[in-house]
Amino acid sequence: MSTFTALPHMPTADKNMEKNTSEIVTSVHYWTDKLLSFRCTRPPGYVFTPGQFARLGLVAESGETFSRAYSVTSAVEEDALEFYLVLVPNGQFSELLAKLQPGDSVLVDKTSYGFMTADRFVDGEDLWMLATGTGLGPFISILQDPSVWKKFRNLVLVHCVRTSEELAYQPLLSSLSQRSQLTNGGARLTLVQATTRDTVSNGAQHLHGRITTLLENGTLESAVGHPITVDASRLMMCGNPEMITATREILAQRGMRPCRRAAPGQFVTEDYW
Ligand SMILES: Cc1cc2nc3c(=O)[nH]c(=O)nc-3n(C[C@H](O)[C@H](O)[C@H](O)COP(=O)(O)OP(=O)(O)OC[C@H]3O[C@@H](n4cnc5c(N)ncnc54)[C@H](O)[C@@H]3O)c2cc1C
Repeated sequence: MSTFTALPHMPTADKNMEKNTSEIVTSVHYWTDKLLSFRCTRPPGYVFTPGQFARLGLVAESGETFSRAYSVTSAVEEDALEFYLVLVPNGQFSELLAKLQPGDSVLVDKTSYGFMTADRFVDGEDLWMLATGTGLGPFISILQDPSVWKKFRNLVLVHCVRTSEELAYQPLLSSLSQRSQLTNGGARLTLVQATTRDTVSNGAQHLHGRITTLLENGTLESAVGHPITVDASRLMMCGNPEMITATREILAQRGMRPCRRAAPGQFVTEDYW
């Protein structure tokens, strides 16, 4: 958890504006009572690679600014920024976020951050994107990047949530999947949804259980129709740190290793807490 600290002799507002720009919230959409997406104006000259995150700041009534990391969900060419967020119980930022409305201001750090980007992979044919909860967000941006569709033969998005009402972004994902079937020579997108607490099923690609269980018992790969291998598969994992730690262990047992600056590997990760 981090907050801005005012420098001596410098008012907090001035300090905020040194590092951030103040942007206007243009829309707020609630998927459930705890899950929302919002859009805001994009800072002039703001550069990011799909998969990266922004640091957002909200100012409390006391004047204190709270800032947190949020993955960018929007496509790189859009003139707005979009984020997909959860309201966590007793979270300081979440409390402010719950009050957010169109017309409000949000501080956006001028720099984008993060290394969970597709350009980390120097080779590979299949890109597996494994998300829990709002860890879906960066993959929404990545899937709107045409270069990713050219780079890989298969794109697989696995979104794991507790109940099916938490399966956000379905209309956009369906249209991306339709587009993939129409595109000649481009990648094929497979969408897999997994729920851990309900047994509602909306088709063959709806699984039940945690990502780690579905990997260990082979259900995930058989649903997708091709295996995860060192040669062909590259993986991105985002969201719950427990899922990421356990999945890293499963992949390590299969001879896979994380991408490092000096040594290309098979997976990259982003822990949300
Ligand atoms: C690199 C990075 C990118 C992130 N991107 C996103 C994003 O795109 N969307 C998003 O919703 N959050 C994202 N987060 C988490 C976000 O920064 C905040 O931590 C979170 O939204 C809660 O802030 P808070 O002050 O309300 O509560 P905090 O006091 O910061 O968190 C309280 C507790 O809530 C739980 N928690 C925190 N984040 C989540 C989460 N996303 N899902 C479920 N439980 C959580 C943890 O148990 C945490 O200890 C990201 C975090 C990091 C490090």
